[in-house]
Amino acid sequence: MQTDSSGCSMQTGSSGCSMQTDSPGCSMQAGSSGCAKQAGDSGNAVEAEGSGSAEQAGEQNCLPSQNRTELSRTRIERGVGGPGAQLKYFPECTGYIYLDSMQIRRGYRQVGKKLWEGIEPRSPIGRFGYMTCAGSVRTSLQLCKNGSPLDYVCDTCDVIPSSLLSLAHVFPQVGFRKGGIQLLGPMGRRTQMEVVLAGVLLCSLLALFGCAVTLGMHPARSLCLTEACITVASKIVEALDRSADPCHDFYQYACGGWVRKNPLPDGRSRWSTFNSIWDQNQALLKHLLENGTFNSSSDAEKKTQFYYLSCLNEQHIEELGAMPLIDLIAKTGGWNITGPWEKDNFMEVLKTVSGPYRAQPFFTIGVSVDPKNSNSNVIQVDQSGLFLPSRDYYLNKTANEKVLKAYLDYMVELSLLLGGDKNSTQSQMQQILDFETALANITVPQDERRDEEKIYHKITIAELQLLAPAVDWLDYLSSALSPLDLNDTEPVVLYAKEYLQQVSDLINKTERSLLNNYMIWNLVQKGASSLDQRFENAQDKLLESLYGTKKSCTPRWQTCIGNTDDTLGFALGALFVKATFDKHSKEIAEGMINEIRTAFKYALDHLKWMDKQTRQAAKDKADAIYDMIGFPDFILDPKELDDVYDGYDVSEDNFFQNALNFYNFSARVMADQLRKPPNRDQWSMTPPTVNAYYMPTKNGIVFPAGILQAPFYAQDHPKALNFGGIGVVMGHELTHAFDDQGREYDKEGNLRPWWQNSSVESFKNRTECMVEQYNGFTINGEHINGKQTLGENIADNGGLKAAYNAYQAWVQENGEEKRLPAVNLTNDQLFFVGFAQVWCSVRTPESAHEGLMTDPHSPPKYRVIGTLSNSPDFAEHFQCPTGSPMNSGHRCVVW
Ligand SMILES: [Zn+2]
Repeated sequence: MQTDSSGCSMQTGSSGCSMQTDSPGCSMQAGSSGCAKQAGDSGNAVEAEGSGSAEQAGEQNCLPSQNRTELSRTRIERGVGGPGAQLKYFPECTGYIYLDSMQIRRGYRQVGKKLWEGIEPRSPIGRFGYMTCAGSVRTSLQLCKNGSPLDYVCDTCDVIPSSLLSLAHVFPQVGFRKGGIQLLGPMGRRTQMEVVLAGVLLCSLLALFGCAVTLGMHPARSLCLTEACITVASKIVEALDRSADPCHDFYQYACGGWVRKNPLPDGRSRWSTFNSIWDQNQALLKHLLENGTFNSSSDAEKKTQFYYLSCLNEQHIEELGAMPLIDLIAKTGGWNITGPWEKDNFMEVLKTVSGPYRAQPFFTIGVSVDPKNSNSNVIQVDQSGLFLPSRDYYLNKTANEKVLKAYLDYMVELSLLLGGDKNSTQSQMQQILDFETALANITVPQDERRDEEKIYHKITIAELQLLAPAVDWLDYLSSALSPLDLNDTEPVVLYAKEYLQQVSDLINKTERSLLNNYMIWNLVQKGASSLDQRFENAQDKLLESLYGTKKSCTPRWQTCIGNTDDTLGFALGALFVKATFDKHSKEIAEGMINEIRTAFKYALDHLKWMDKQTRQAAKDKADAIYDMIGFPDFILDPKELDDVYDGYDVSEDNFFQNALNFYNFSARVMADQLRKPPNRDQWSMTPPTVNAYYMPTKNGIVFPAGILQAPFYAQDHPKALNFGGIGVVMGHELTHAFDDQGREYDKEGNLRPWWQNSSVESFKNRTECMVEQYNGFTINGEHINGKQTLGENIADNGGLKAAYNAYQAWVQENGEEKRLPAVNLTNDQLFFVGFAQVWCSVRTPESAHEGLMTDPHSPPKYRVIGTLSNSPDFAEHFQCPTGSPMNSGHRCVVW
């Protein structure tokens, strides 16, 4: 069940694995993939963890502040960093220690201390210097290439292990170049008085500066004090809960403040960064569509305004009442709920309901890329037909009693609104519910459908006829894909072979009137969301039991923007990107993707569990992943855009008819795809969407314009935040190419075995570790399904690692960036905080329960905790002792 009105324009392509909830799921659904809007998964009430040392290793801890003024740079010609590498040093220190990568590794192994964990260079060019100050070491004095200036990073002062000292080269201290030569030069020509006055002035200035420094004011050049930095710093600080121990519960530490300040808005079952950006996007679209001087450059854009206005025209919707749907039911042959049921013709009703009206009783059909032949499209048939979000609602009756009762009430209430008889409706609707329960029984759970090699079956229509004889398949498919000419040798891809066999048996042994009622009920669901307030009120009650939404007070305009995006999302997207999208964003995003791809491939090169041949093929696949950023090009060409929506009639005043026309139109678009090769320009998400996805059959990653904005990305934010935000999203999508499902596809997007068996075995062992790990996480006492969420968890973990390594490489290339004021975090720590704060969220218990049953993503809290507790870099930068909850000593690493 969707709270948005259904139907996704254009996309018939395979749905891919998205970043977020309400995502289409991974490539399983035939047919239109569902419009993942934003949704924002959210964690549940977060436990407040005990307070701990929230003090960050930072500027204050290492060096007396007055020494900072004496920082200087000097050239190091010998050994480390090569000619031109520069290093800052502190005059009171006795010397430098340089370690090359091998020594650091050896040191790490021999010393085995947390201090040295994670010191390994992240890329071949990485080398690190250490400074000893009277027996203690200032870690992470980074060398930078190209002689560009750098800031020191002072993470910790600790006694240097003697075993490591013996491995290190100790260089004598390099001279501190004194300033003032230019200044004193002209002094010689001044009078004595002038020299005295100048001296007094200089001393005063130095004293003032010294005071400022002593009072803790850092030299401005080490802090970023731009407006953007100050603004983002304050947001970060507000979201933190510094009383929480980052090594105990990093989600609480990063998001505790945010959760406190963000109660669920009325009418919402969850709230997160994703939702709030989507709300902003919607507000902008409202402004564009309601602008008195709305100036469309294409008919398609004009259609968006018509559609939106028809949705806003509540007066007309109220006047029509239930009539449009009552008429539609009559036209389809009627049902036993409201009167004579004349048309005892199963096939005719099935064809009408699931053809031009795109309902999906019993099963779903679609046209999409053939996973085993990614250059062509093919008809696909899959299981479907449940109204509630998952089979568990029907089968686990005790736990879901409240929802089942609310669903039955909803069915009855809608039927009465449509003219049903009070006495007979209740029992007939109970029969439909029982029938859906029988469907739930044969429906295969999502976590058993992850191995696509196993569930893919390509057969002909003739073979399908033998498998599931209750339906006349050639008749049915010819009607659904009209006007195409099909015969019974036409190939069909099934993802639920046994289910189709069983549903056929179920249809054969079920009473015809019940089958008819069930099919019409599916039609009612499609139509009810375009009717008057009484229908909405009925739905609100169901939503309350299902998602815990307290009351519906979503403004009408917002519902209508959502509907317009579902229907004409690419035309709406044209308006959106013209108003907001910076044309440089594409280049910047492409640059970042390449940095992350490089980091991913570097890690790939160092995986010990993968054989050489598979590794090379994996690198080739990573290289072949192509990216689509912002929006598909066709939307900015008025003619091409009009062609896409050609044949979709939209009027300014008939919302219900606009909805029906759209279903009809999308059925024709689907038919149109079958004989055409898959089109790269066909996106499964519209440009304003705050989400991203990977398409296994195209080996492509897609980042709609909607997600390319703060807090995920902003040009004037520190790179640590951009890499922790959109960088992790990019790494996540990239890693999907190598998750348990994506890995089965080769670089051309074909489902075929391309791994050596030994590496498949190792991969399975590693993913099993992650399944167990996530199985252990609970929300309100209910366990996460580690199998169902495996692909997303692999992507989260791989994405974080690739983005962090890419950030390290960036720092090595460009030097340490300025820090944010007031946050009191090193830039490495900021990276992890920025990542975690993307997932700050609140959610009702009902919605959390629903997410655990249906969502392929883990709840946000564990997207943070699971991922970071597997990261040695995180443990190092927050100095989490081994054995602490965020650094248990046992890690699951796949990529
Ligand atoms: Zn994903």
